[in-house]
Order: sequence, then C-alpha cells, then structure tokens
Amino acid sequence: MPGSSTVLVTGGAGFIGSHTCVELLDHGHDVVIVDNYSNSSPGAVERIAKVAGRAPVAVYEADLLDRRALAAVFADHSFDAVIHFAARKAVGESVEQPVEYYDTNVGGTTALLRAMHDHGVHRLVFSSSCSVYGNADKVPLTEGDPADPTNPYATSKWLCEQIVADVCRRLPGFSALALRYFNPVGAHPSGLLGEVPRGVPNNVMPYLAQVAAGRLDRLRVFGDDHATPDGTGVRDYLHVMDVAEGHRVALEHLDDTRGMTVFNLGTGRGTSVLELVAAFRRACGKPIPYEITGRRPGDVAALVADPTAVTRAWNWTATRDLTAMAEDAWRFQELNPSGYPD
Ligand code: UDP
Repeated sequence: MPGSSTVLVTGGAGFIGSHTCVELLDHGHDVVIVDNYSNSSPGAVERIAKVAGRAPVAVYEADLLDRRALAAVFADHSFDAVIHFAARKAVGESVEQPVEYYDTNVGGTTALLRAMHDHGVHRLVFSSSCSVYGNADKVPLTEGDPADPTNPYATSKWLCEQIVADVCRRLPGFSALALRYFNPVGAHPSGLLGEVPRGVPNNVMPYLAQVAAGRLDRLRVFGDDHATPDGTGVRDYLHVMDVAEGHRVALEHLDDTRGMTVFNLGTGRGTSVLELVAAFRRACGKPIPYEITGRRPGDVAALVADPTAVTRAWNWTATRDLTAMAEDAWRFQELNPSGYPD
C-alpha cells in the first residue's frame, strides 16, 4: 500500500502492538488504538508517543466485544486497514479457561469483522501464532505443514484463521494476511518499550530478565530430556522490532493477493533454553541461577520457522540476533523494574 494510511490497531498497548504502533508512526502512518488494558496499560501508550515523537490519532479504552463501542470507533475514523492483536495469549490459562479464550479471541475477531464489514473496511492483518502447528515433528515448519493445535489458545488462533479466510473467500472485497509468529522477545532499543507481564511471567525471556534483576530466585528449565541437541526446548526467538517491521511491511503488501495468505514470521534459527540463558548472562553480565525441572505439560521439543515464503514475497527477514534480543530485553528490565509508571 503506497503512501501513509490510517490504521486501527487492536491491542495496540500490548507487547507486540505497542512496538508495531511505533514502527507505523515512524513510517508516516496514522494510528488509532483500541485496547481494553486487560493485559496492558495506558503507560504503554504514553511511551509509544515518546518513542515515536508523535502520538496516536486516538486511543479508545474498549473491549471488542462491546459492539456499540467498536462501532463508535469505526464511525469516528476512516480506516485503510486493521491490525488485530487484541487477544488472550497464555497457553496454560487457556487450558483452565477455554470459554474465556474462545469468547475473547474468536468472539473478538468476529465482532471486529462485523464492524469492518459494516463500515466498508476490508483489509486486515491478523495476529496468528506458530502454536497452530502444535506437536509438529519436523523442523523447520512451512506454512503448508498441517495445523494441529493442542490447547484452546492455539485452537482459537486456528479458528480465527479459518473464519477470516472464509470471509475473504465469500466476500471478494476482503483481503487479509495472517502472520504466524514464532517467539517474539526483546524490547525497543530505547529501553522505553518492552514486555510487561502481569504477575510472574509465563514466558522464558521475561522470566530470565526478572531472575537477572533479582526479583525471582532462579529459572526453572522445563526438561533436559527433549529430543534436541542439549535436551532443552528449542524455539525460534525473534526480536519484537523485527515482528513490528513485519507488520508494517505486511500492511504495504495487503493488496498483493486476493483472499487470505498465511506467513510464518521467524528467523529460521533454533535456540535452546540453555543457549538463551547463556546469551542473557552475556547481556546482563550476571550469573543466571537455574535448575532443571520436569517438562512443562504440553511443551513441544522444537518449533522453528521456515521463513522462506515471507522473504520471497516481501523481501522481509529478521535482522536482529540473539545478542540484540537479550541486550534489549535486559535494558528494558533495568530501566523499568516495575514496568510502566501509571
Ligand atoms: N521455559 C523454561 N522455563 C520457563 C519458561 C519457559 O524452561 O520458566 C522453556 C519452555 O519449556 C520452552 C521455551 O522455554 O522450551 C520457550 O517457552 P515460552 O513459554 O517462552 O514460549 P512458548 O514456546 O511456550 O510459547
């Protein structure tokens, strides 16, 4: 899409959403945020403005399931496209609360499609996840590999992909890109934006940052008996700024193809938990205490992207390495030990 556009970003105050807003603002796009702050805060929006040197056009505290509030957002602006991040994202929690996950993630997506359709907005970048591949027994994974979601979070993302794809098939005006990210980590290099998990982090990178900061005593490494070189889980970590760039580039390619197209966003490189611990130790200059414990239920041994398709389509590749991911995550932790001030 040439020139600047006005983009609705749902979940724009969240981890990936906030970095994507900065990237869009830096490239001349206008941004409107809708966020219910269920796992984010207005402090993130202030930081977006500070980092980008310019604020979003508007910010709405609203839930996508509040159809009247959502309709009002669409009535206030003329959107060229929507980037849809707003969702619940904790795998473990999704197993405990499947109804909440389907309601928020699937119901939120259909409510958004309803509002888009009603207001003549037909271009969508959808936030999907490598978790849709489930227990894949091959590395790396291409978009053509079968989906096999193993928990309600992953199933909700898979269902949303199906719904968006079908809407695009039935209503030819619609076009969508579903981006399946692997493991986004790191932070904006300014140290002003990063990941602010509520309570004890579930994910390994924010957990490591809190161990290094002395807020948690040690990392529990979930299993060293996986079928991987050192026995610990292997993931394709990619820098959140690369993910943000991927979304901005996606926006510019929304009109390339009809219907919905799925792309992996990953580096194509696998990193074990112990390799990640070593990288973080180098970044923070402190020892990282850890202990090997049993496997986490539902964990898979290795998930690594084959990013060939997206590179071929858009010339996008992840450019930031593991050192940058660890250094930027640590900088954010050091500068913001309690997250964003609110
Ligand atoms: N992991 C770990 N200890 C933790 C959290 C995660 O050893 O406290 C491992 C986990 O088993 C997996 C990898 O780190 O192999 C990435 O997990 P994370 O939860 O960050 O992302 P996931 O790939 O599950 O979405």
